[in-house]
Amino acid sequence: MSENKSAEMYQVWQQDKDHYIHPWTDFSTFKETGSIVVEDSDNVHITDGDGNQYLDGIGGLWCVNIGYAREEMAQAIAEQIMKVPYYSCFGHHTTVPAAKLAAKIAELAPGNLNHVFYGCGGSVANDTAVRIIHFYFNQLGKKSKKKIISRIDGYHGSTYMAMSITGVKFDHIGFDIDEQLVHHISCPNPYRRPESQSIEDFCDEKVQELENKILELGPDNVAAFFAEPIMGAGGVIVPPKGYHKRTLDVCRKYGVLYVSDEVVTAFGRLGHMFASKDEFDIVPDIITCAKGLTSGYLPLGATILSDDIYEVISKPQAEGALFTHGFTYSGHPVSCAAGLKNIEIMERENLCGHVQEIGSYFEEQLKTLMDLPIVGDVRGKKFMVCVENVANKESKELIDPEAQVGNRIADHCQKRGLIVRPLAHMNILSPPLTLSKDNVDFLVSTLRESIVETMKDLKQDGYL
Ligand code: PMP
Repeated sequence: MSENKSAEMYQVWQQDKDHYIHPWTDFSTFKETGSIVVEDSDNVHITDGDGNQYLDGIGGLWCVNIGYAREEMAQAIAEQIMKVPYYSCFGHHTTVPAAKLAAKIAELAPGNLNHVFYGCGGSVANDTAVRIIHFYFNQLGKKSKKKIISRIDGYHGSTYMAMSITGVKFDHIGFDIDEQLVHHISCPNPYRRPESQSIEDFCDEKVQELENKILELGPDNVAAFFAEPIMGAGGVIVPPKGYHKRTLDVCRKYGVLYVSDEVVTAFGRLGHMFASKDEFDIVPDIITCAKGLTSGYLPLGATILSDDIYEVISKPQAEGALFTHGFTYSGHPVSCAAGLKNIEIMERENLCGHVQEIGSYFEEQLKTLMDLPIVGDVRGKKFMVCVENVANKESKELIDPEAQVGNRIADHCQKRGLIVRPLAHMNILSPPLTLSKDNVDFLVSTLRESIVETMKDLKQDGYL
């Protein structure tokens, strides 16, 4: 924080530094610099405690889909609080928003995914999927079917199980994960495939790898395959065409359930309510979602099950077992009211249509950055994009990780009024879906300027 902050903001900054353990934080730098206090927001902008305004190129954390500070959201939330601020949905009670939102999600979700279990976010939605899958196979008498397969660089959350399913190796350093239950196959990142390999051969190889892994572990031991439609936190990786359909076929062949982690992609980010069907033409067995479900206004996640799975878990249980899974805040009425209002706004304003249009322009404009000497790849779809920086565009060799190129670019952007997310040598963009064409122009020109400045710094510091 700068010298001109108000006394109150200075106190907040100090309290935060002294007492708040931030998630996903490099404490060594945090202890020196503290935080930027986000004090105000409006549509696509946030304002810090010094009064500086930024275009939020990352939508909070891929989640503020309808934009910041919507009055009608505040009203819907306040009205629900004054009616029923909380009631437990354990057993045979419900609330109006929990029931209405479940029906709305079922209407929007593809195929026969008609049954919704609520939690408080994406990690819990994935943990819930694992518990339900295990329960499901137990009920079918297939008790050995327990193992989960996921991908290197997939991200599925930060609870113990969700982090075990996550395949971002960096995130596992210093922590333990469940290596008995979870098995990773390689990442279908076309940019990093061998130069001589065609995209079709690359896809064949990745699909075959899943089949081989199922056979190696034994189909009777494999319960589910977890995959994001586009891998987000692993670097916005769009798999080759046909990959999802073909991996789903492999799963079906061996009775392995396909879980599509749509925590980032659902509710508009790719211009669809759900990307599995509309972007990738698959109907998975389970979809997990969170983030865009309430646009981050309140915590809420959902695990959406097919009729077939619901049928099995809701039958009279063997050995007198009950479906003993749930949280105090499962189906929290205020979060569900926020979810309903959020979807109402998205539909009324045709935000998916807006993303189709402006998202295409955004992709196009970002691709123009490819003329910069360190920009090796610009990839992603619509409002989920990544810029990958390299030392050599031919060999795709990386810049020394010590240079922290993603951080440097993000810092330059921030000085110019733009927030982008650094991820090692990459920068990620996932703006609110209300982004205008003018916002896109500002974002892309600011990012260009920041990359150019970063190249100068890197040269000066001997990294280029
Ligand atoms: N899955 C994916 C694909 C995610 O990107 C995230 C969060 N970024 C999660 C799961 C975890 O969600 P949460 O942080 O809400 O627990």
